Amino acid sequence: MDAAQEAHNREAFRQAIVNTLERRLFYIPSFKIYRGVAGLYDYGPPGCAIKSNVLAFWRQHFVLEENMLEVDCPCVTPETVLKASGHVDKFTDLMVKDEKTGTCYRADHLLKDFCKEKLEKDPKITQEKAAEFKHILAVLDDLSVKELGAKIKDYGITAPDTKNPLSAPYPFNLMFQTSIGPSGLSPGYMRPETAQGIFVNFKDLYYYNGNKLPFAAAQIGQAFRNEISPRQGLLRVREFTLAEIEHFVDPDDKAHPKFFEVAKLEFLMFPREDQVSGRSARRIIIGEAVSEGVVNNETLGYFIGRVYLFLTSLGINKERLRFRQHLANEMAHYAADCWDAEIECSYGWIECVGIADRSAYDLRAHTDKSGVPLVAHEKFAEPREVEKLVITPVKKNLGLAFKGNWKMVVEALEGDNIFLTGLQLFIEGRQAMGEKQAMEMKAILESKGEAEFQICTLGKDVTIKKNMVTISKEMKKEHQRVFTPSVIEPSFGIGRIIYCLYEHSFYTRPSKDGDEQLNVFRFPPLVAPIKCTVFPLVQNQQYEEVAKSIAKSLTAAGISYKIDITGTSIGKRYARTDELGVPFAITVDSTSSVTVRERDSKQQIRVNVEEVAAVIKELELPPNSTAFGINLNLNTDDMEKEDWTEDNFGGGEGKGDSPNRVHTCPTWGRLIGPKKLHHGDEYELSLFECFLMLEALAMAAMIRLVKWLSGNK
Ligand code: AMP
Repeated sequence: MDAAQEAHNREAFRQAIVNTLERRLFYIPSFKIYRGVAGLYDYGPPGCAIKSNVLAFWRQHFVLEENMLEVDCPCVTPETVLKASGHVDKFTDLMVKDEKTGTCYRADHLLKDFCKEKLEKDPKITQEKAAEFKHILAVLDDLSVKELGAKIKDYGITAPDTKNPLSAPYPFNLMFQTSIGPSGLSPGYMRPETAQGIFVNFKDLYYYNGNKLPFAAAQIGQAFRNEISPRQGLLRVREFTLAEIEHFVDPDDKAHPKFFEVAKLEFLMFPREDQVSGRSARRIIIGEAVSEGVVNNETLGYFIGRVYLFLTSLGINKERLRFRQHLANEMAHYAADCWDAEIECSYGWIECVGIADRSAYDLRAHTDKSGVPLVAHEKFAEPREVEKLVITPVKKNLGLAFKGNWKMVVEALEGDNIFLTGLQLFIEGRQAMGEKQAMEMKAILESKGEAEFQICTLGKDVTIKKNMVTISKEMKKEHQRVFTPSVIEPSFGIGRIIYCLYEHSFYTRPSKDGDEQLNVFRFPPLVAPIKCTVFPLVQNQQYEEVAKSIAKSLTAAGISYKIDITGTSIGKRYARTDELGVPFAITVDSTSSVTVRERDSKQQIRVNVEEVAAVIKELELPPNSTAFGINLNLNTDDMEKEDWTEDNFGGGEGKGDSPNRVHTCPTWGRLIGPKKLHHGDEYELSLFECFLMLEALAMAAMIRLVKWLSGNK
């Protein structure tokens, strides 16, 4: 299939999904009756339910599992916080304007679209030109304002809507500005990420955690970015939900005690070197990536593994998920290593989770700006001898030389003194002289007798003479180490994950009579917006009573359901709810037991009315929280060990080491019998089958218990 055809298919697939999502109210363009606003969307009932399920699982998978400290901070943030973090000065995208209409566009997006279109749609493109466009796509993030402007000009790129000429690119800050309070004197912004709320609370959170590292804090909340021209539907919006983790760790020890739990996971990774040399993403075992230094450290590797488990448990296709390492030019100068979880959808590979080792940058920035030391301490079991710089100003001589200014000179000189750390000096508003600078001054004083020294608080240089200060290094005892922790930050764009999940879950299948294609979302029960439906097979009072009693037990068990007592054909009722991704349909076709149908396989089992809520509850569990998703090796010797005998499961034809052996369990036989499995075959159980197997195992345990109680062991 050529590139143009592929692009056409992708577009058609997206259109089908978007139509379904909008028609079934998964989302609604915000303020639709007023013709909407680009980049703002409402989640309708199924979308809301999915989001709340994804967030509930996020809390379980990360916050609960790692004992994270969850916080909830305001969206409105004072300017000073975002000045410290660098957002006020640097959170920008390059913008160009239609010179006639004033419509704004993201400059890099226009260049990207131009190159892509040439590559996909220009059959006469020369090899040389194709290589040039590919190169631009690869270095797009790295282009300076000037380079970007030059390329737009060279290629004659015009405004997409009007073909008018464009302005030169210039930076546009993406934050929504506001002011806090009525005076207008206190500028603020709607936060562009949730992380800053965690950083500014570090001191209290560290104390709450018993002054111990490592620990992680987490926050789920809205983030706001005034995107220049959002065009990718739910993927690029102006207000979105972020779920962020800030894992604080000793920079000298980034090992993770639970790394072994993920070390054997193997998935698609795209290291920097492979990208630069034009190779494709490949399957790598995360343990090896860490031991070979491809991933910077165990904690970062641990989170990459956990993110993989999280996304695949939600239903993201593991073949369309990759972890791409940032190129050197993409990474902030302070970052130790960054990987993006990218999910492939009809828009291409989309960054959905960023996982970055941001070193000590954020805590240092807020320490500097606020004057509050955001540091951790390591108490030594035994005091340690360390060489320390000691600067002793000779106050009498300084006083004589500098009169009223002598104190400021003293403060500036004391610098990295043993009595005052650089940090404390800062907090007290003093200038800190580093060790290097001090030793240089010592050398100059010894050779020339005097040295020039800048005093920030005086705003000028002064001359320091040899008799005004002594600089030396001495051995001192230290009882603790004070340091700024590093932070490892997984940052999840919840809306992007959900949109990709929609694409990965969507398929169509022919209706029973084959005359139309029906839409299905194969959401795992964990994320499905509604877990089951309750349908009386025919309209009669007895069945309706049963349906209502089942509905009551589902509510009591906290299971969402949709009850449909209309007389519509059962096939139509299935189709309606398949399109919402409801995984189980309970059809009331008797007063004592009902049929439970699974959405994708359409397999059915009978369950007693009293047990149906418990059965659905079990099925709703996340795949990796119990035995679900196990790979069962159908080895009949193992079966023997498990005591799968006909005694326990009641009459079966096969005995001994034969493939029929497994058929001795009636429930089990019903499921795998028709699949003709043989001795030693590997077979991955679906969630539904897992449940049935557990049910069978529970039955075996019950029988043993009853036998034991009755003395018949
Ligand atoms: P960033 O801080 O830019 O790395 O963004 C963190 C995460 O937020 C990304 O991995 C995306 O999943 C998500 N994200 C960023 N910008 C947007 C946007 N405009 N719309 C939706 N999600 C976004």
